[in-house]
Amino acid sequence: MASPTGESALDITDQGLRDLVERYSTRGPRYTSYPTAPQWTDAVDSNVYRDVLRNHTDPSPIALYAHIPFCKRLCLYCACNVRITGKQTLVERYLDAIKKETETTAELFTTRPQLAQMHFGGGTPTFLTPDQLAGVIDTFDAHFQSIPGAERSIEVDPRVTTVEHLEMLNAKGFQRISMGVQDLDAKVQETVKREYSEEQLIEFVADARRIGFEGVNLDLIYGLPFQTEQTWQRTVDSIISIRPDRLAVFGYAHVPWIKPHQKTLEQFGLPTPEQRLSLAIQCRRALIDAGYFAIGLDHFALPDDGMAVAFQQGDIHRNFMGYTVQDTDTMVAFGVSSIGDFPAAYVHNQMDTGKYIDQIEAGGLAVTQGHLLSAEDRMRRRIIVRLMGNFHILPDKIEQEFGVSFNDHFASEIDELEKFVEQGILRHDETGWHATLEGTFVVRNIAMIFDRYLETDRDTTKRYSRTI
Ligand code: SF4
Repeated sequence: MASPTGESALDITDQGLRDLVERYSTRGPRYTSYPTAPQWTDAVDSNVYRDVLRNHTDPSPIALYAHIPFCKRLCLYCACNVRITGKQTLVERYLDAIKKETETTAELFTTRPQLAQMHFGGGTPTFLTPDQLAGVIDTFDAHFQSIPGAERSIEVDPRVTTVEHLEMLNAKGFQRISMGVQDLDAKVQETVKREYSEEQLIEFVADARRIGFEGVNLDLIYGLPFQTEQTWQRTVDSIISIRPDRLAVFGYAHVPWIKPHQKTLEQFGLPTPEQRLSLAIQCRRALIDAGYFAIGLDHFALPDDGMAVAFQQGDIHRNFMGYTVQDTDTMVAFGVSSIGDFPAAYVHNQMDTGKYIDQIEAGGLAVTQGHLLSAEDRMRRRIIVRLMGNFHILPDKIEQEFGVSFNDHFASEIDELEKFVEQGILRHDETGWHATLEGTFVVRNIAMIFDRYLETDRDTTKRYSRTI
């Protein structure tokens, strides 16, 4: 089966694979934002955020993200902002803080926006009891009205998610659940301390579908210790037989300088860049052969899923939730470490759960850093987001939206793009530049051409995960 780029996923030879790694394996951002988080500063705080909210007059529907940081046990590969706890008093204080943050934020909007999307992430949102979680959803619904057909989704951990959770969520309009499966092999699971059987997964997905969830997303991770071609194939085959509507297949981001617990995994040996790419391609081949569309950097969807349809129409978007179908330029975010994404600014909440609660109790907001976007930032963000989502750069669209001459403004970037054309990573036609199949594996490298902050920030080695 052909990939969405029009080329066969089976066309990359082992030598081609080695060449890709040799030439393009470096460290670089994943571009869920531009400029990326290392460029943000504490000049953007809660007072600046108050102005951003007051000055937000765009009537378009927005997205809402809520971060629930709690988990029962730490998975060793985890790079999320988590709080391992059993203390209900902390949880109750946290829920009160989310409520107060929501009230404060909603009051500051001059024009109260409507919601096109609501997403809960973590941590483990279903660490909360069904009643606690319902309370948070009710708070959001009391302050923001959702448009008809708004998408509601939540990350669930089947190990702590009950049928009662699923029934409550479905009754409150949640249509999509996402689960981090990562790998079904017992040895890999034991090593990364996330143990869960295939039978439990099958039963859980069946429950979710019976209760009425239309969308089931599963996440896999390649690049973990003890993953071999054989074990990985078994995992991928099992997942295909469950037939999730969407899959995200992430390369393990090993960043022990940020998440010291990940260092434990080094004693078991981590796959080399070549092995990682081989696992990525193996999975991609299997999923495309099974009828999935490959979307963006790391997503796959069944042909009738909204994401596959949007991809075919060149209409995929990217924000802190990853790839999305909803075209929202604004995301308001609640909870510790959450990131709000506005046309004019990124705002990042306090990273420590206790301090987040204290700050909210004291003043209603807890922004500790961020970035105010210049017109140049906004234009480069648009190029990078479109490239990461749809694998193309279309100069006409940029010229129409930002009123610049693409050829004049990006003359040096065009020289770099043409080098990628010569290397077979991009092809150039009258509409613009389009990633080839090889190019889709190194789209982060292409995006880096437009990142003007990297020029003054060449010490990328320690900040970012590997591009391959
Ligand atoms: S369940 Fe998810 S968020 Fe919690 S520790 Fe594991 S990977 Fe991290």
